[in-house]
Amino acid sequence: MTRSLPIVLLLAMFVGGCSVLTQKAPVTERTQLMLMSKAEENRLGLEAADEILKTSKQSTDAALTARVVNVGKRIIAVSQEAKEYTWNFYVLEDAVINAFALPGGKVFFYTGILKLMDNDDQIACVMGHEIAHVLARHGAERVSQQQLTALGGELLSTALKIPAKYQQTYQAAYGAASNLGVILPYSRKHESEADAIGVVLMYKAGYNPNEAVKFWQKMAAQGGKSAPEFLSTHPSDERRIEDIQKNIKRLK
Ligand SMILES: [Zn+2]
Repeated sequence: MTRSLPIVLLLAMFVGGCSVLTQKAPVTERTQLMLMSKAEENRLGLEAADEILKTSKQSTDAALTARVVNVGKRIIAVSQEAKEYTWNFYVLEDAVINAFALPGGKVFFYTGILKLMDNDDQIACVMGHEIAHVLARHGAERVSQQQLTALGGELLSTALKIPAKYQQTYQAAYGAASNLGVILPYSRKHESEADAIGVVLMYKAGYNPNEAVKFWQKMAAQGGKSAPEFLSTHPSDERRIEDIQKNIKRLK
């Protein structure tokens, strides 16, 4: 990220106050590059959610869905930032061991991952993590980083030409990044941040954060068997479990 700093400054010079933004992530207060508005983020999230719901089967297990929705509602209730989004919680019928959240507040759990959860506290551990991705706007940050990368290359090659040309480039880069969609893989940094925020959220909502440790240990034990997707985007190694244990100690 240090290499990106001069580019941020150039962006600020040319585009002025209209597009260049940073924000602070909740809980960790990390400064994030944020070139996408919340409205745009919500729109992309909604579009992606519609697409997923069209092509997936929602669970017919009303009791299970109600449990997931209840955990989600309890967690968003403890977050001030959560009030800015329209939340929906879905359970999709599929053996895949995964859960994910789309920008703007659409959270999806597969029945495959729910089968591994012993109690609502463990649902809350993954729910807190997914809600944290939304609150910290990780999807929009990822797109912003891509835009900056695209822009940076163009900027350097044209050696600081006129702002009008720059604006065109900006628009093109912005369009390309938007077309990539918002479901880009998260970085390890985003994953640790979502863990850190998620543990605080589940704790504030009255769930037992120690169940998060148990759950990630169970996920780690699943590794390589039937869970490649979740484990590739949400690595559950020793380090992660240690980090979560440290975060739990800070709560008390
Ligand atoms: Zn994650």
